[in-house]
Amino acid sequence: MSFLEKISTNKSVVWIAPERVETQHREVPLMKDDEVLIEVVVTGICGSDAHVWASNPEKRLPILGHESAGKILRVGAKVSDRFVGQHVAIEPGNPCMKCEFCIRGQPNICANLAYCGHTADGTLTQFYVCPASVTVPIPQEVSWRSAGSIQPLAIAVHLGRRANMRAHQTVAIFGCGPLGLLVMAVARSYGVKKIIAFDIEQSRVDFAVKYGADVGIVSPLNTGGVPPLDFASDFISETMEQHNLGSGVDLTIEASGAETCVHMGVYITKPGGMYIQAGLGKQLSSVPLFLFTAKELTMKGTVRYTPGCFADAIDLLARKAVDLDSLITSTYPMTKINDAFVAQKARADIKIVVMNQE
Ligand SMILES: [Zn+2]
Ligand SMILES: [Zn+2]
Repeated sequence: MSFLEKISTNKSVVWIAPERVETQHREVPLMKDDEVLIEVVVTGICGSDAHVWASNPEKRLPILGHESAGKILRVGAKVSDRFVGQHVAIEPGNPCMKCEFCIRGQPNICANLAYCGHTADGTLTQFYVCPASVTVPIPQEVSWRSAGSIQPLAIAVHLGRRANMRAHQTVAIFGCGPLGLLVMAVARSYGVKKIIAFDIEQSRVDFAVKYGADVGIVSPLNTGGVPPLDFASDFISETMEQHNLGSGVDLTIEASGAETCVHMGVYITKPGGMYIQAGLGKQLSSVPLFLFTAKELTMKGTVRYTPGCFADAIDLLARKAVDLDSLITSTYPMTKINDAFVAQKARADIKIVVMNQE
């Protein structure tokens, strides 16, 4: 098949109504001199996609998807460091590189960020054009399935940098969804001493232990109307005693967004330790600030990824320091995209990837 025949149809996943997407032909954008044309092979689906999918499209109908990798089909005239056939991951954020945050080296919080699948057309498409500078080479030995989770791994790498993970640390992770598990994988590869994983579902805790947590704990739900802080403090005191955690953990990562876990996380962090909020919960959650001050904790937020996180993620993957394959529990062809979103919403899978050309 000639190159032009190949791209004459470009099936793309377009969001048309709440919980409804459609595969439509979209023109492949013209390529500029500093851009590359990519045959997209794989795209991971995540909670944020399902959130968009379930809501109501406001104005235009964007192409979804932001966790993709593929093969370069063409390189622009001014691109000298990419080649045809090269496997690459696609960074989904297009920062302006002009605002005060971009200039400071934090393009993840760019004031004018255009993000694939959210504020810009995404990568759930067969052919995608983007600046060569937002593509990151992947060695051929990395499987396409795994390549569909490089973007969330890059987010976990960014978190690892924010947390300044070290070999002497004991780390508590609340929430064993993909983000919590990927943070765990990064923490493990960075050599932290001990990882304690919490989730409300036994099956997720079991998976976390198989995947690399030293201790897995099912956290209870406060169904008896116990005052929230008493509930969190009682459970954590018991846990610390049972697992010999002394005065607490060095680093807590809250990756569930649940308010109870925020409370538990503050209780379990040792004085002088660090607490990182990674889960996006409701708009307003309470935090026991008196404890923060009394224990002199450091609290940080974390969002998206920063320069070099993709390359570091790919390096961890290529060296097999992190395993993504076992996280991917379902693979769908793009022709079955609605089923993939229904499955994502049902939350029975750990990680779903879609094969864009199938
Ligand atoms: Zn995502
Ligand atoms: Zn910017």
